[in-house]
Amino acid sequence: MRDSFLANTELIGLIGHPIKHSYSPFIQNFAFEQMNLDYVYLPFDVPTESLKAAVNGVLALGLKGLNVTLPHKEKIIKYLDELSEEASIIGAVNTIVNDHGKLMGYNTDAYGILDTLLPYREEISGKKMTVIGAGGSARAVIYTLLRHFKPEEVNIINRTQQKADTLANDFALKMRYDCFHTFELFPPDNVETLNNSTLIVNATTIGMYPEVEDTITDIDDSFNEEQIVFDLIYNPGKTKFLETAEMQGAKVLGGLKMLISQAAKSFELWTGAVMPVKIISDSLQQYLKEKSK
Ligand code: NDP
Repeated sequence: MRDSFLANTELIGLIGHPIKHSYSPFIQNFAFEQMNLDYVYLPFDVPTESLKAAVNGVLALGLKGLNVTLPHKEKIIKYLDELSEEASIIGAVNTIVNDHGKLMGYNTDAYGILDTLLPYREEISGKKMTVIGAGGSARAVIYTLLRHFKPEEVNIINRTQQKADTLANDFALKMRYDCFHTFELFPPDNVETLNNSTLIVNATTIGMYPEVEDTITDIDDSFNEEQIVFDLIYNPGKTKFLETAEMQGAKVLGGLKMLISQAAKSFELWTGAVMPVKIISDSLQQYLKEKSK
């Protein structure tokens, strides 16, 4: 890690609340170092009541940009000057570029989701898909599925069904898609919906560290060997939900590739350079292995 900074070192911030478990500072600072770029990436724990002040701070202090995480991805939009197409449809921003005083908002989660699913395009395109969750990342998942994979139908399962309804109505309008079905998350009632889907995506926090014993469902019949099951969670690398799906023969994908791909896209937006993804991914896995000892 570098030990000195110059007068023109560019600063990128990460804002969220809480923030201390993020891997993004590791990824971005390592990438800046690898590419010999005079940038530094620092996390800032910003509670919601300080969000506006934090955005003003970006302008006043001349930060080059920000990553935005929970719980600010949606609320920050009103402070920005312009949104990319995907950020505008998704309704959430995770990356901001300060373009000479003009704040541009992007959603690079959608790139991470696309990168993860693209190798399976043939298998999933035009098929039935189920998304569990109705928060910010579920919106990025649904945008990506509708934009790139032409689903036959999209089921949205969520603890609060009314949020799933709102999400479905919103996307039906914005992306002119009318094959949504919504369900309340109640595993015994969700078996058929899950089993009939070629792609299942978990976009909830269920099973995320430290609650690693929690799972969406442990009902074996929810899965089969024709399926691809993607869990956005990257810590742990394989959730209990994925373990159950894998036991039934499904192909399972964790959230680490998405994490690196969304970071790579943000890196590119700030620096114009391409992140050396393979080196970053290898060293992140090594870092996580050492952390878990
Ligand atoms: P949000 O807070 O926006 O949404 C959380 C979702 O989880 C909601 O649907 C919520 O349901 C549901 N939920 C939360 N707790 C429970 C519970 N106890 N029981 C049932 N449902 C629950 O979060 P995000 O969409 O931003 O993030 C979701 C996940 O995606 C996180 O685990 C995050 O780590 C991961 N993620 C991974 C990324 C990657 O790069 N791999 C990038 C971004 C996110 P309700 O609507 O009822 O509250």
